[in-house]
Amino acid sequence: MTATYEQMWKDLGLDLVAHDMLMQVLGQGYQDVFLTQESRPQGMDYFNFVMSEVHGLRIKELLDGKKEGKKVIGSFCVFVPEEIVRASDATLVGLCTGADFATEEVEKVLPRNTCSLIKSAFGFKLGKVCPYIESADMIVGENTCDGKKKSYEVFGQLVPNLYVMDLPQMKSPEGKALLKAEYYRFKDRVEQLTGNRIDVARLKNGIEIVNNKRRAVHRLSQLRKADPAPISGLDALLINQVFFYDDPIRFTESVNKICDEIEERTKTNSGVAAKGAPRILLSGCPMAVPNWKLPWIVETSGAVIVGEESCVGERGVRNLTADTGSTLDELMNAIVDRYFQVDCAIFTPNPDRLQHVKDMATAYNANGVIHYGLQFCQPYQMEAMPVEQALEAASIPTLRIDTDYSMEDVEQLKTRVEAFIERLR
Ligand code: SF4
Ligand code: SF4
Repeated sequence: MTATYEQMWKDLGLDLVAHDMLMQVLGQGYQDVFLTQESRPQGMDYFNFVMSEVHGLRIKELLDGKKEGKKVIGSFCVFVPEEIVRASDATLVGLCTGADFATEEVEKVLPRNTCSLIKSAFGFKLGKVCPYIESADMIVGENTCDGKKKSYEVFGQLVPNLYVMDLPQMKSPEGKALLKAEYYRFKDRVEQLTGNRIDVARLKNGIEIVNNKRRAVHRLSQLRKADPAPISGLDALLINQVFFYDDPIRFTESVNKICDEIEERTKTNSGVAAKGAPRILLSGCPMAVPNWKLPWIVETSGAVIVGEESCVGERGVRNLTADTGSTLDELMNAIVDRYFQVDCAIFTPNPDRLQHVKDMATAYNANGVIHYGLQFCQPYQMEAMPVEQALEAASIPTLRIDTDYSMEDVEQLKTRVEAFIERLR
């Protein structure tokens, strides 16, 4: 891949030496974590290919699109409404990153006790290794947690095209009105950027494309309820991660294709783990590419992950946007209604999430829940305690894990996870 795309990366201003190093680590990590799994569905070949070309062919596609006037919008959060982006014929790509990079440089501009997710986004920018950040015509930051909200003040000095979206923190009528006003402001900004006016037909089309993508992931989630588990949690997570990068129509087709294959597997009772293997639900902070540490530990310790209560998972996709409106305002209201249900821990209070974790544990026949919090993530670390209490009160064993992107705690985590799995057995 390196030789083919070197000029493209150079033109984007990447540091080729640092980028090469990242690609090598990523390639090796992928090989060790994913390609060593047994009984993977054949449909995962497509996702292997996407990952092998994540900085190559996909970037070339985006740049080819840009030559034809198609804008690229980068985002860090599932609150950025993809329906509006699609309606303007632009492409939305995820910029959240799941690996440490250029940490020394990052800690010159951010406090050390910032969560890994924020630090990683800064590291990829400062280390000049992210072709998505460099391809974006606009980058959307959003006022969610304090870490993100304040770090955008710094990020805005590193990139020329940051747009900050305000978001509510309470599920009140005032909060909803704020979200609506912000989505209208975003629509206007996107129209200005792309030169495309968003009308009813365009918005309906955007809603349909994004809903179809979500429906395909819902289908996959339903199939994961089977025992034996027909697909590993690692592969399902990868699909949820690719959700944020791939062309949406191609992604939908590929997920439906793998679902056809998995459906056949469930008919013959074949899977990736033995029938009766302990089933785990993950809950908590989003896991962005290439953050595979915890799922890898869990699935190499004899359990299988059957669902993710996460923005890279069910929290991000579980609701569809109603497409029945016949005016622009009705469709915008439907978008607001849909996103206002996202139960991110930045909301206070946030009772819906406690209920949702319990519901998911039941629906996916999970034997236990692992709550995953990133160190220095106040919203999720603080909410971990009520989540644990609610689950244990419902007799669902729960393990709270706080970690970061380093590999230093792998052995310690493995010991704790193995002990938890023993408890489930
Ligand atoms: S966890 Fe909250 S802030 Fe993070 S991506 Fe999800 S909705 Fe956005
Ligand atoms: S993981 Fe937590 S602290 Fe980090 S960006 Fe997300 S909500 Fe904020």
